[in-house]
Amino acid sequence: MLLCITKRNMIDMFRPVRGMKDLFGSDIDRYQFIINKAIDIGKKYGFLHISTPILEHTDVFKRSIGDETDVVSKEMYTFEDRGGESLTLRPEGTAGVVRAIVSESLYQNLPVKLMYHGEMFRYDRPQKGRYRQFRQLGFEHIGEKNPYIDALTIAMGNEILHAIGVFDFRIFINTLGDDETRTNYTKALVKYLSRHKDSLSKESQIRLDKNPMRILDSKDKMDNEICSMAPLIVDYISKEAGNYFEKVCMLLDKIDINYDVDNFLVRGLDYYSHTAFEFKSIKEGSQNALGGGGRYDKLLKMFGGPDVSGIGFAFGVERLMLHMQKEHFDKRIKTAVIPVSDNENDIAFETLISLHNAGLNAEIILGGNISKKMKHAHRQNCDIAVIIGEDEIADNKVTVKFMQQNDIDNKMKSIHRGVLIPFLKDAYNI
Ligand code: AMP
Repeated sequence: MLLCITKRNMIDMFRPVRGMKDLFGSDIDRYQFIINKAIDIGKKYGFLHISTPILEHTDVFKRSIGDETDVVSKEMYTFEDRGGESLTLRPEGTAGVVRAIVSESLYQNLPVKLMYHGEMFRYDRPQKGRYRQFRQLGFEHIGEKNPYIDALTIAMGNEILHAIGVFDFRIFINTLGDDETRTNYTKALVKYLSRHKDSLSKESQIRLDKNPMRILDSKDKMDNEICSMAPLIVDYISKEAGNYFEKVCMLLDKIDINYDVDNFLVRGLDYYSHTAFEFKSIKEGSQNALGGGGRYDKLLKMFGGPDVSGIGFAFGVERLMLHMQKEHFDKRIKTAVIPVSDNENDIAFETLISLHNAGLNAEIILGGNISKKMKHAHRQNCDIAVIIGEDEIADNKVTVKFMQQNDIDNKMKSIHRGVLIPFLKDAYNI
């Protein structure tokens, strides 16, 4: 009894940390399917891969994302390492990629187009689709400031969603304007919000002095109500920024990409200017933000790099997994090679190797009687069983059983060993 309790306690003790989950089985297959598709599409658009460290100096995020954002002020995993340096587990990918472009002098050959994927960490309130460790898939295009690039970037995101089987989504875009726009808009916003200061949340009252635009993405109900009547950035847009945005919209129209202009879209991070966009699922449920991004003008300079603009976006991979259509996910067929008894093990082993050499997914199932082996194949989600018994060997044949087939006539086929590979390739559709 005592042993039992201790075991239970140990299992509880070693559960994953809250908001962090093990990824395995078909989830991992789906994850890899998404990443592979996105990488193929990224390559088509000229993006190269980059992998940056998960840990960065805390200032990398504080300076770029902004002290007053929720991400920096509430959600970062920050700690001192043994040498007393303040380090942070990356909460998003752009800051680290831009830091790497500067540290590695990659900006010497502009434009630089980089894609990344990997774990991000935010001390968020965990729920379905919202985790403390989650994965992002992102793209950064640095060194070209042009509405054509903004439209292309959004088009690439749109193409990735379709390629992985996410169809029920809308694209929302807005412009955050240039410096002139922001200076004029901030003045108007502060004037308006100051009139409602006493009704704003404590946090927003502080932000009113430090970074008023952040109040627009406050999660507080009363703040939201006040903000719904606030002046809109669109009314303060400079001529130049207005023309830029108009051109982006025109280009999207030209390539038949549907979008909605959302004047309230400001994005939760400080570094954006000009085009900002989000991909949102239209399915019910709170976790409908699939991804988003925008143009940033000052980020490279902030890290000591040249004064060039960039544009980027990131998808939340868990969100994509949640919203992709299952039938779109091309699960690869798996074959079980099953010797009826130990006497057929050698031939089954050779058969397995020949299937692997032909590029087919296959496993050998050994041990126990045939019914135990068939059950094992079912549990492993095998689609096809290649059964090799005494009779099959005598006739130089194998019995192929389609595990998911209900039609009795088509469930089993006896075929010549010499044609097994073309037969399976046909079944695998390759
Ligand atoms: P953001 O950098 O906040 O714009 O996030 C980009 C995307 O990452 C979002 O649209 C979500 O799809 C995803 N994401 C952000 N936070 C989380 C989280 N805590 N858990 C899962 N996915 C997230």
